[in-house]
Amino acid sequence: MCSVVGIYKNQNAAKKAFYSLFSMQHRGQEAAGISSNENGKIHTIKNRGLVTEIFTEEHFQTVLKGDMAIGHTRYSTAGDDSILDAQPVYAKYGLGEISIVHNGNLTNKMPVRNELIKRGAIFQTNMDTENIIHLIAKDYEKNTLQERIVDAVKKIEGAYSLIILSRTKMFAIRDPYGFRPLSIGKIASGGYIIASETCAFELVGAEYVRDVKPGEMVIFENGEMKSIQLFESKPKKCIFEYIYFARPDSDVFGKNVYETRVEMGRELAKELPVDADMVVPVPDSGVASALGYSKESGIPFELGIMRNHYVGRTFIEPTQEVRDIKVKMKLSPIKHKIAGKKLVVIDDSIVRGTTSKRIIRMLKEAGAAEVHMRIASPASKGACYYGVDTPNPDELIASRMSVDEICEYIEADSLAYLSIESMVKSIKDKKEDYCFACFDLDYPVEPKE
Ligand code: 5GP
Ligand code: MG
Repeated sequence: MCSVVGIYKNQNAAKKAFYSLFSMQHRGQEAAGISSNENGKIHTIKNRGLVTEIFTEEHFQTVLKGDMAIGHTRYSTAGDDSILDAQPVYAKYGLGEISIVHNGNLTNKMPVRNELIKRGAIFQTNMDTENIIHLIAKDYEKNTLQERIVDAVKKIEGAYSLIILSRTKMFAIRDPYGFRPLSIGKIASGGYIIASETCAFELVGAEYVRDVKPGEMVIFENGEMKSIQLFESKPKKCIFEYIYFARPDSDVFGKNVYETRVEMGRELAKELPVDADMVVPVPDSGVASALGYSKESGIPFELGIMRNHYVGRTFIEPTQEVRDIKVKMKLSPIKHKIAGKKLVVIDDSIVRGTTSKRIIRMLKEAGAAEVHMRIASPASKGACYYGVDTPNPDELIASRMSVDEICEYIEADSLAYLSIESMVKSIKDKKEDYCFACFDLDYPVEPKE
């Protein structure tokens, strides 16, 4: 996951980057950072924690000054939580100063890194993003940053939505497949915003212009926006953005996420009907698709499970024990609503099965007569190499168990997943333009390690 933002030519750019990161906090809660550009001098603040925990008013008054800024929220794998691995990644190099933010995973990190190390590079972090800054710095035969960036991105593979800040410019680049989103907006009070999700535009008063295209580099220079198509566009947009990651009020890959999820719920009801008294979403990720299921089936929608909003996303917790207790702390049933009722419970996905198992047990203890689980996406079977922190495939319950076995494990009265075909119907777009690798194991780019 992760989110990136760039603010180009707007007063107090860092403050606007901060608001944007706040609205994209759901894409990464582990660390965050901002670099600002004050008349060609780049300042950076980054740390572990939530956006609101890291930045203070004083940072904006005294450090993060200037009219250009980039920012990042980080979502990382368990164990890899060093403060050094927070972004932006900043460096002084032959042509001045540069700072980079990156969403996505490079699939050839180790071969590139080993080659750089052989030629004398020293690394400070474990991040694939550091490769990019080294490639740029070592390309000393080229005299402009733009040429160096072009050379660098030709050497990296995999998923990258990148924003690069230099002394005078800003660059936004998306890999040829466009795995991760990246959109451009025009800020009413002047300048541009580039962000992972359009929900960031609302807070800074910006109007959506367009997406950065797969394989495109957009250059912001002298107040203007220019474009170079670096690679042929071969879209393989991440379907999981629609299923889970993105905020429902965002438009991702040109379509509204909420409406797409409602459609998924409608398809789910058409494909997998069930005789029930009420449709109950697993909050918050199942709400929009449950609404669609209810509209299509005519079964009433009820918020039978409440969510405590002071608990973050549960999936991120590093150990199973903590994940178990967190699910209980996070979700609780409205007993009098569900007692004696046949429920169809909707969630967006099952990863390890922790959430579903706990919820079903909780609903049964609260007196539910039957619990039928319907999942608004296909069974997750494969690891993602493009920036989604899915666990090792052994931990993905659907990679080791059949649907019947999972049903038994989570103690549901029935279980069914949306098919890939119905998923495609709900996005109303060409299937070949999307990456479904976590469902069908058809990987557009093979990882090199
Ligand atoms: P499980 O409990 O089966 O391991 O995870 C399922 C829950 O995790 C679902 O409610 C879903 O909304 C959420 N989920 C699915 N994929 C991801 C992910 O990549 N990151 C996070 N934080 N949650 C996820
Ligand atoms: Mg969820």
